[in-house]
Amino acid sequence: MNIIVMGPPGAGKGTQAERLVKEFSLVHISTGDMFRSAIKEGTEMGRKAKEYMDKGALVPDEIVVGIVKERLSKPDCAGGVLLDGFPRTIQQAEALDEVLQDLNITINAVVSVDVEEDELLNRLTGRRVCRNCGTTYHIKFNPPKVRNICDHCGGELYQRDDDTVETVKERLKVYKKQTMPIIDYYQRKGLFLSVDGARSIDDVFADISDHLEKIKGRG
Ligand code: ADP
Ligand code: ADP
Ligand code: ZN
Repeated sequence: MNIIVMGPPGAGKGTQAERLVKEFSLVHISTGDMFRSAIKEGTEMGRKAKEYMDKGALVPDEIVVGIVKERLSKPDCAGGVLLDGFPRTIQQAEALDEVLQDLNITINAVVSVDVEEDELLNRLTGRRVCRNCGTTYHIKFNPPKVRNICDHCGGELYQRDDDTVETVKERLKVYKKQTMPIIDYYQRKGLFLSVDGARSIDDVFADISDHLEKIKGRG
């Protein structure tokens, strides 16, 4: 099974993706995580991506499509993938279709996690991420057992540079303008499912899992 998880920044894509990849044995492909790794490693691509990320803008399509294509071509993807935060523009969605066709991969579902704007701001400004393994927490809604320490690996938690109020507002604008048009793109293909993300992490997960189980049963 191959799925796309989309939704505005802070909706819970990454949180749901972490669980879904375990439940359905999928390879997790997060373009945001790939850029953050590249920045950490100090590569040229990371340096370029950071310029856009810090402003809350999208990284240019050529760069994003290039790294996704490279990742999808690796043999471990044959067992199923979860794309998290990609595609984010119509151009990316079209480029993805070409790549998938070449690789003989079909998308089974596009799940959009939807949350209203005030709540997104609460979620993003309280988000903390493990510096070591990337696990996501929230200071109030999903805190670690020990303050600022990752439950899984003991790593230190940090706040992302782009999780400030101003940058978040810009990212929300970008989502509406550049990413929302792909909803229609996937609705036309009959793949689109919207899930109410304004519930507990467990409830949202149960809802998405049920849907995916049904799709699996059909296939
Ligand atoms: P969030 O979890 O808040 O939605 P991500 O971690 O997915 O954010 O992405 C962080 C930033 O990385 C984005 O604001 C954007 O600058 C860049 N980025 C990630 N994925 C893409 C993409 N598919 N296209 C363009 N830029 C991207
Ligand atoms: P995205 O990848 O869509 O940007 P994340 O998964 O990183 O979103 O979640 C954003 C923040 O909201 C994180 O701090 C996360 O712990 C928290 N969060 C995720 N899902 C929920 C939920 N259902 N209820 C409350 N907080 C949540
Ligand atoms: Zn960790």
